Amino acid sequence: MTLLEVRNLSAGYGQFQALFDVSLNVNEGAAIAVIGANGAGKSTLLKSIAGVVDVIFGEIIFDGESIVNLQPHERLNRGIALVPEGRRIFRSLTVDENLSIGAYSRRQGVWNRELVYEVFPMLAKLTDRRADKLSGGEQQALAIGRALMSNPRLLLLDEVSLGLAPIIVKKLYEILPRIRATGCSLIYVEQDTNQALSASEYAYCLLEGQVSLEGKPADLSREQIASAYFGIGVNK
Ligand code: ATP
Repeated sequence: MTLLEVRNLSAGYGQFQALFDVSLNVNEGAAIAVIGANGAGKSTLLKSIAGVVDVIFGEIIFDGESIVNLQPHERLNRGIALVPEGRRIFRSLTVDENLSIGAYSRRQGVWNRELVYEVFPMLAKLTDRRADKLSGGEQQALAIGRALMSNPRLLLLDEVSLGLAPIIVKKLYEILPRIRATGCSLIYVEQDTNQALSASEYAYCLLEGQVSLEGKPADLSREQIASAYFGIGVNK
């Protein structure tokens, strides 16, 4: 069943248009990758779905209803949680306090502090530590854990691997199927194409605010991905 349908979306910042006619589908329980170069519009797409960027035109249907006019907190209450690029955790609060804030939406579901600590054992030992004293990987785990506390049906992950050592990225990605197993759909935005494609069943590539390629990762050749990513030989 389709959980999220983005139809012909155009969005941007004031006078600046960053997305042009973007369409995307996410089935319930699916993992979708959105790849593309710096500035392609990946974060803008996630932020449009979460409601923090102005939509100029188009439709966003979630669970059969239009959410395009809903505020970010209303979308969170319906089950759309964003883990923003740069983590944006509350740096002066402890791990435990950050998780409490994540539970604010009070949606019913399996996620609670205990399950977050079980899934992210690296956080379980650090419950009283201030977030600004955590390593980059621990902060990213906390950002994901905080979003899970809202019991999302759709988790939007913006550049999970940015600035982290490969071993830490591997660890975080190993945890994602566990999240999916709770019925939560995932959209990964990554500049690290290999990481995102290997963890997803369908992928979209953005180029200058438009979908330049889409398909199942296994069906996409390296040449297709390179040209859709960098715009080489793409007809416009
Ligand atoms: P990155 O990986 O660098 O974050 P991205 O693919 O996520 O790239 P976006 O962050 O969505 O790209 O940016 C798309 C376009 O929108 C870029 O041209 C960027 O400069 C512009 N942009 C992003 N945020 C803002 C903003 N707050 N105000 C104005 N323009 C913005």
